[in-house]
Amino acid sequence: MDWKTEFDRRASVFPGLKVLRDEPMKRHTSFRTGGAAARMAFPKNAGEFALALNCAAGLGAEPLVMGSGTNLLAPDGGLDRLVINTRDMRKLEPGAEPRTICAAAGCSLRQAAEFACARGLTGLEFAHGIPGTVGGGVCMNAGAYDGEMSQVLAGALVLSDTDIAYLPVDALELSYRHSVVMEQPKTYVLQALFRLEPGNASEIRAKMEALMARRKASQPLEFASAGSTFKRPAGHYAGTLIEQCGLKGLRVGGAEVSTKHAGFVVNRGDATSADVLAVIREVQKRVFDKTGVTLEPEVRILE
Ligand SMILES: Cc1cc2nc3c(=O)[nH]c(=O)nc-3n(C[C@H](O)[C@H](O)[C@H](O)COP(=O)(O)OP(=O)(O)OC[C@H]3O[C@@H](n4cnc5c(N)ncnc54)[C@H](O)[C@@H]3O)c2cc1C
Repeated sequence: MDWKTEFDRRASVFPGLKVLRDEPMKRHTSFRTGGAAARMAFPKNAGEFALALNCAAGLGAEPLVMGSGTNLLAPDGGLDRLVINTRDMRKLEPGAEPRTICAAAGCSLRQAAEFACARGLTGLEFAHGIPGTVGGGVCMNAGAYDGEMSQVLAGALVLSDTDIAYLPVDALELSYRHSVVMEQPKTYVLQALFRLEPGNASEIRAKMEALMARRKASQPLEFASAGSTFKRPAGHYAGTLIEQCGLKGLRVGGAEVSTKHAGFVVNRGDATSADVLAVIREVQKRVFDKTGVTLEPEVRILE
């Protein structure tokens, strides 16, 4: 029997767990591209998450856990996988220790930063303008403007195929756009614990607004994208290299190297994932040929 039929049978025993069939990924990715996910589950809590993951494992269906899809390129031909979308896991509360915050995986980084600001806690301002979730942020060690998750995380509650465990920040092995969550055996973030510092709410707000203004001034936020397409190569900035190679405006189908910020590949409206990927590969080739620098995608390219 096909895994989807058996998955539907098992999931129907838990009517609280929302599951969509053949759900277009383009509805859930910031590139606005990608074909249908065979099944997409929306757990509301750790129990439902574990249930969905357990079903997938038992049926040999490869799970994909996603947050806001702001760093994902999903194939146009779709995914014969169970996608676990954390968007409904939104619990956000003060931690047991002073100056800590507990955020479920699906909280947006903006919500977490606002929550901290409202309590006069400083440290998360850098994350306010990053459009992903807490789970995606931990996985990617998201960062901006000299801040990154590794500076504010105390640890995370993670789920593996067999266990739930609290990993302190050192065990998360956070480095530039990398964490243990990306490695095998797979682990999934259920909740993060942030440790922040006392601050002044109006100064925190002013900093968040100033950083957002810098984003708006430099980034092509009017188009769909996944932010910086490439990681920063040692000793360089990807956007500067791409611009120096004359690649601003390079276009395949509806995908284009942004004319505002060469580090972004944008969807001008009707791009497919294949168009985006073709631009990524062409940029990598031309930058390497001209400068000898290898650009590694920051965007997670799904197959
Ligand atoms: C306009 C724009 C600006 C951006 N600016 C920045 C920036 O300044 N700095 C920055 O670092 N990034 C930036 N990004 C990229 C993106 O927002 C971050 O990488 C973010 O952390 C991704 O979070 P997400 O919830 O969207 O993750 P997704 O894109 O859904 O997933 C990304 C990866 O995380 C994994 N993942 C997601 N949730 C979980 C979970 N609960 N457990 C385990 N794995 C999980 C996925 O499997 C995938 O491998 C930007 C993107 C856009 C569109």
